[in-house]
Amino acid sequence: MPLTKEQHEAARSKALAYFDKVGIFLTDEERERIEVADFGLGSLPEFGVQLITYLDTQRVGAKEVVLFPRQTVPEHRHPPVGGGPGKEETFRCRWGTMYLYVEGEPTPAPKAQAPAARREHFTVWHEVELRPGGQYTVYPNQVHWFQAGPEGAVLAEFSTPGTDEYDQYTDPGVKRIPELVA
Ligand code: ZN
Repeated sequence: MPLTKEQHEAARSKALAYFDKVGIFLTDEERERIEVADFGLGSLPEFGVQLITYLDTQRVGAKEVVLFPRQTVPEHRHPPVGGGPGKEETFRCRWGTMYLYVEGEPTPAPKAQAPAARREHFTVWHEVELRPGGQYTVYPNQVHWFQAGPEGAVLAEFSTPGTDEYDQYTDPGVKRIPELVA
């Protein structure tokens, strides 16, 4: 079930409050076009993302992202597309805490929990904890997912161009949403 207009508007307002609190200035035009995505999983508090795209040219993408407390972006990768290597993305934590999971040795007692109903669709558990000033680059085709800490998180994302329509999600229940972050 798609997000209702009311759900979308409530999430947009809440995201704006984070940007304001953190001191990230957005123009009126940008405030209007904040995107909210629930990945088609129908539970925005658990699975979702709020973002503003500053730039997405043929070579560079730049976004600002809000995750609400414990909100999760499901596991996915950005495969090679059209002769190119696939999307590379760097996350920088501006505020709060972000738990990013990537391929590698699983972290014992990870600080994020995959929402129980869909836990089987989370397969990489090497934890990278990002706090303000911390950043991490995810290279093309590397499996990853992330979750905000208990206060939520504000992140910058710098990347090569988005390849949303080609992104591969581990969870078959995910529906691609236009202009998805990740
Ligand atoms: Zn991604």
